[in-house]
Amino acid sequence: MILSHLLTIHKDGINRASAEILARCRELKNHLLKNSINTELHAIICNSNVSLWNSSKLSNELGIYGVDKIWITKKGNICDQNKALIKYIASAQKEATKKYNIPSLLVMESNELVKDILGGLAIHINASVISDVIKFGFSDNNFTPRKDKSLHIRATRPVMTSKALADVKVIDKQIIISLRPGSYNLPDVNDLETVPKKVEIEYMNDRLHSPNNKISLKNQIKQVINATEDFIDLNEARIIVAAGRGIKDQNGKTLIANLAEVLNAGIAASRALTQSGIYDSSVLVGQSGKVVSPQLYLAVGISGSVQHISGILNSKMIIAINKDKNAPIFDIADYGIVGDLNKVIPILIDEIKKIKSK
Ligand SMILES: Cc1cc2nc3c(=O)[nH]c(=O)nc-3n(C[C@H](O)[C@H](O)[C@H](O)COP(=O)(O)OP(=O)(O)OC[C@H]3O[C@@H](n4cnc5c(N)ncnc54)[C@H](O)[C@@H]3O)c2cc1C
Repeated sequence: MILSHLLTIHKDGINRASAEILARCRELKNHLLKNSINTELHAIICNSNVSLWNSSKLSNELGIYGVDKIWITKKGNICDQNKALIKYIASAQKEATKKYNIPSLLVMESNELVKDILGGLAIHINASVISDVIKFGFSDNNFTPRKDKSLHIRATRPVMTSKALADVKVIDKQIIISLRPGSYNLPDVNDLETVPKKVEIEYMNDRLHSPNNKISLKNQIKQVINATEDFIDLNEARIIVAAGRGIKDQNGKTLIANLAEVLNAGIAASRALTQSGIYDSSVLVGQSGKVVSPQLYLAVGISGSVQHISGILNSKMIIAINKDKNAPIFDIADYGIVGDLNKVIPILIDEIKKIKSK
């Protein structure tokens, strides 16, 4: 069978969500191989940063995850052209699975781009989709493709603004999963291959129809929004400082910026602040915004509405600062500071600076 992943890379390395997905896929691949099921792990790359990586860097960085084959298009960044992207992924899947005859599980990061293309891609490759999951694997005792070559995949997905978890089982030949970042841990370097596996690199350019280079108005707007306040990508940030209505005004916003700076953190906001225009909507976290999964989420002056909380439950640790000791955010926080943020934040900044200077 083929396990594949739509991979995102930066100038220097693999993005965090992709590393988590590759590590999980490698685990599944090894499990299948141990049970004599021939399995390959493929990485499909679409972003333009690939031109900054030569083939030996690609092989080394991905070979340690046990990747067998990399699919590349050098037609520039087609991640902002939905139709071209769907066609590219579908072409790679078609070739990898010998026209969809070999069962495959395609795992993608659950993000805005993937939400946009998931439906179209599923139709193109005639696949079943389980979206926005936090856990996936093969059903108990059923990790072998059946005689009809279908896979039994089991996944867990948060539903009803994350108040409940649904256990979903899908049986099909081609299955696509989108996985929330932060659902699996980054691999320990000692767990990866010490000698990178030799990786085959396949360039798709010649077999792809020329993509329509015109970026749609919708996609152009998406790019402008993403290019505003989101200095540190919230999907990638290890620490996020999130501001709520309690910060009130520009002075509060400056306090948040100062705290984020000493922590090298990304800045997020609740809807109370994006609706009032204090923060741009690109940094909204929650049901109508981003779902984030940092190591530390510092919620400042946020009450903890269900809509906000549904976007932060994958955080490894949540610390809340609120002057109301009964605020619901304290029900899910690992640590809480009850106090006026205008007094607490300057003390926190001083203490962090002291620790950093040691
Ligand atoms: C369909 C729908 C979708 C929604 N989607 C989202 C979403 O994606 N994300 C989102 O965030 N919201 C969303 N909302 C809005 C959500 O219901 C809440 O209204 C919003 O999250 C409240 O934001 P808040 O916690 O900043 O403000 P509030 O609820 O007003 O809380 C402010 C908090 O600040 C504290 N505070 C005040 N002053 C200080 C101080 N000086 N020091 C310390 N603490 C202080 C208060 O005690 C209070 O707990 C959605 C609502 C609907 C209906």
